[in-house]
Amino acid sequence: MQISLKETAAALKSVQRIVITAHVNPDGDAIGSSLGLAHALKALGKEVQVSIDDDIPAAFSVLPGYELIGKPAAGQNIQTDLLVALDVSLDRIGQVAEVVSAPTLNIDHHITNDGQADKLYLDGTAAATAEIIYQLIVELGVTCDKDMAMCLYTGLAMDTGWFRFSNTTPNTLHTAAELLACGAVPNLISEALEQRPFSEVQSLAAAMQKIELLADGKVAGVCLDYASLQEHEAPEGLIGMVRVIEGVDIAFTLKEKEPNLCRVSLRSKGIDVTRIALQFGGGGHVRAAGCSIEKSCAEARTDLIRAIMQVLEEER
Ligand code: AMP
Ligand code: MN
Ligand code: MN
Repeated sequence: MQISLKETAAALKSVQRIVITAHVNPDGDAIGSSLGLAHALKALGKEVQVSIDDDIPAAFSVLPGYELIGKPAAGQNIQTDLLVALDVSLDRIGQVAEVVSAPTLNIDHHITNDGQADKLYLDGTAAATAEIIYQLIVELGVTCDKDMAMCLYTGLAMDTGWFRFSNTTPNTLHTAAELLACGAVPNLISEALEQRPFSEVQSLAAAMQKIELLADGKVAGVCLDYASLQEHEAPEGLIGMVRVIEGVDIAFTLKEKEPNLCRVSLRSKGIDVTRIALQFGGGGHVRAAGCSIEKSCAEARTDLIRAIMQVLEEER
């Protein structure tokens, strides 16, 4: 059932024990929103746990509360009054779904949200879930402090490509300004999160050598099979390098993270790439989407390119 922001605040106020989760393969918005909301709920005197079913990259230790994020263990049974899922539909929270049995409240900005939660607050116009969490903090009557601001600013900055992408709205920038006024330190966050080990910069260079141009240069992508990912770690930021190639409308990366399990990222300058991601059970936003394909790198590449070409054809 879809609810309003006011009802979302009321749902949080009415309970004492709250578990917050977000999507597997968590990004800055998933982690920043989770910690930002956790700080706000603690300020209200709630008992809060953050449980995400994945490893949290060490770079996020710049965020206050990083050490509070737990990972669910198989067979564990977490007793709580409410499970709050952020930046995700309930199908992508991993083992948290089994370990926590409680009513679910879902807060998200993905237009592809499947609406399976007991209560859903969805705002597809928000650049990031963190933008919604800031509004929620105001609605809850909590005074935003530096800890909350650092976390939410991170979510907002990272989901907008540091305020460059088309999802950046006047409200996004107003929110960012409020967060700075509350004590967020932008350079501390960007320096921590943009920093890469030397080896990863070299992996990025190796991966960029493998970028292929398709459809008269309208499509560009790179596929990294399991063997090559064993040799060079999966480079962060690769999709961003593909996206900027002149003339490219659809950019993709395909990484075979485990044998026969490929993670796909899609970006576009206009075409709705959720149409491609949804065909493989994924989702996302018009200009940024993703999915997983349970096939070898070569087979997944064929399927993905076929789906991209079909969407390009339909757009003509
Ligand atoms: P990424 O390429 O991983 O940065 O993801 C781009 C966007 O698509 C983000 O908003 C993700 O949350 C979303 N997304 C990525 N993978 C999936 C998936 N398997 N299912 C649903 N949404 C996804
Ligand atoms: Mn996310
Ligand atoms: Mn997000």
